Amino acid sequence: MSKRYFVAVYTDSGCLCACEHKHQNVTTAAACISQPGGYVVAVRRQQYLPLTEAEQAEFESAMYGRQEPSEAPAIPLLVGGVKVQG
Ligand SMILES: [Zn+2]
Repeated sequence: MSKRYFVAVYTDSGCLCACEHKHQNVTTAAACISQPGGYVVAVRRQQYLPLTEAEQAEFESAMYGRQEPSEAPAIPLLVGGVKVQG
């Protein structure tokens, strides 16, 4: 098996652009995304490969985690007055 690594990608005028790094994991590649709509793909033998389910989950948590802190404090304030589903 060839080495597999990850890159941050984004589309620009219909072109798929990727960063020039060889990220060892999804999280660091996600941190490399500098604009909305960016994504992470795996690369092997100079071909882009879709993320596995586990990698997709890691990507989502990496992206979500970056944006969560500003939203999180609101949750305790809502608990008292808003009906919680589930
Ligand atoms: Zn990068």
